[in-house]
Amino acid sequence: MIAPMQEPALDFVLTALKQIRETSDRLPCASRISLVQLHTSPSCVAADKSELLVPLRERVRVCTKCPHLASSRTQTVFGVGNPDAEIMFVGEAPGADEDAQGEPFVGRAGQLLTRIIKAMGFARADVYIANILKCRPDMPAGSFGNRAPTPVEMQTCRPYLIEQIDIIQPKLIVALGAVAVEGLLGTRGTMRELRGRWHSFNGTPLMITYHPAYLLRNQSPSEKRKVWEDMLQVLERLDKPISAKQRNYFL
Ligand code: URA
Repeated sequence: MIAPMQEPALDFVLTALKQIRETSDRLPCASRISLVQLHTSPSCVAADKSELLVPLRERVRVCTKCPHLASSRTQTVFGVGNPDAEIMFVGEAPGADEDAQGEPFVGRAGQLLTRIIKAMGFARADVYIANILKCRPDMPAGSFGNRAPTPVEMQTCRPYLIEQIDIIQPKLIVALGAVAVEGLLGTRGTMRELRGRWHSFNGTPLMITYHPAYLLRNQSPSEKRKVWEDMLQVLERLDKPISAKQRNYFL
């Protein structure tokens, strides 16, 4: 939090940085986090967050830290949504559809995630969606389906996600499935013991719920209800109004 008496000084710094940016061909340097923290007006924050994401997206785009993934991918899948989102959904890794389109959660599981987001009262563009891995895990030639990322792949790619979170600073994060939890927290656990309660990711509240792909495999209303109850907790934490219809989904 920035004390009110510091604001004129911060305004001065911001104006100076803007002038340097506009008049010099050398960009001023400052850490992403400090730049985000410097800005106080919400409109500034939104604009600057998307600007801050641009160079990170570019570093991800050309990343070759996992040579096997860099050579097998069609493209990297950075993340999508509102850079000023209150909620950030984190999945595990792009699948074939995401690799083809360059956007996370666009396949069948993604369509279900989009329906969940809409049922919560948001548009997909209101939230931010990203994965632990920015590349599709490679598959042996001629085989179908997707594989889970390895621990080494997750460790390697994790810093990019941390930077995304640092820039976006969501009010809360929703981890989708056990692999996303492992990538974020480094802990392996069963979803039965992890989901449905609040955890913390570096101080940001973290809700853990089932991956939408699990709901596609297990169509029982009770499993859908569990995910929905987790989302109700998310809405409550954000002080969003919840209608009776929303309360009663899948009951
Ligand atoms: N599953 C994920 O975890 N992420 C995607 O982007 C798509 C499917």
